[in-house]
Amino acid sequence: MSSTAQSVTVIGLGPMGQAMAAAYLDRGYRVTLWNRTPSRADALVERGATLAETPEQAISANELVVLSLIDYDAMYGVLDRAKDAVTGRVFVNLSSDTPEKARAGARWVTELGGTHLTGGVLSPPPLIGTPDASTFYSGPRDAYDKHRAALEVITGTSDYRGEDPGLAALMYQLNMVIFWPAMIAYWQAVAVAAAHGITAAEIAPYAAENFAGMGHFIDFYAPRIDAGNHAGDVDRTSMGLASMEHVVHTAADAGVDTAFPEAVREIFRRVVDAGHGADSFSRAVEVMRKGASTTTV
Ligand code: NDP
Repeated sequence: MSSTAQSVTVIGLGPMGQAMAAAYLDRGYRVTLWNRTPSRADALVERGATLAETPEQAISANELVVLSLIDYDAMYGVLDRAKDAVTGRVFVNLSSDTPEKARAGARWVTELGGTHLTGGVLSPPPLIGTPDASTFYSGPRDAYDKHRAALEVITGTSDYRGEDPGLAALMYQLNMVIFWPAMIAYWQAVAVAAAHGITAAEIAPYAAENFAGMGHFIDFYAPRIDAGNHAGDVDRTSMGLASMEHVVHTAADAGVDTAFPEAVREIFRRVVDAGHGADSFSRAVEVMRKGASTTTV
């Protein structure tokens, strides 16, 4: 095992793992790799990385082991075959999953004698290795402090949230709750525009302006929500429901799928049906919280 801080193992070579390994090579690290599909390591090996034949060999090569897998179940599949090599290694698990899966994964690694840091990367592969990229971390503070410089090769900004291994996963998931539906909302607009012969590029500036303006709405509503203030002084849910009806019918008239706007309309309808039509649509937060027991998972 190398004892220098300038060597690292990366397991998982999707677009993220490849970008991470490349960032380490750029910074002069000695990099050991393992991936289920070995050919994904070819370009990195050409640049000087070492491809291990087994997960055990990869883990044995370095104290610091970065995992970039599809989810935590994949980690069990990989590490199960390398249990004897886990002791003394620090696993920085940048695979996304739920907070509960992260906690269980951290327990599993710890019981095998390793250390587990959870990470939630907020940036896409092209930003990996740059100062603009950022990652949430949680888990043992001493391990984070010891390896922080190496972690900040991957993303220049790191945001340590605390000892609970679930926290970084939670913060990551909160961002995904916003990111995926927001992008699907944009795809919906693009599909409706396309049905009218308008290109994605034509509406791009308006969409970007719309997203940029969201910060003002969040700044306005956040303190009111925390104070339990859902007064209908600037918006009313009944108005929102009428507006979402227009959105659904605009899509339907254009022959575009209405599943996404219908789901949003359903939220407005529930708030109105609960007797809050005259309140701000921020009242939906309370209605959604109470809806947890009816959610299908
Ligand atoms: P990919 O799905 O492209 O790659 C996943 C990796 O997991 C591959 O190396 C794949 O191996 C491996 N893998 C999947 N299933 C198994 C298994 N059963 N056993 C062993 N290995 C397995 O994902 P990305 O590289 O895009 O992302 C990696 C992680 O980073 C994900 O958790 C993702 O949510 C997160 N992330 C991704 C971002 C992005 O923009 N791409 C942004 C932020 C976070 P193989 O090559 O053999 O298929």
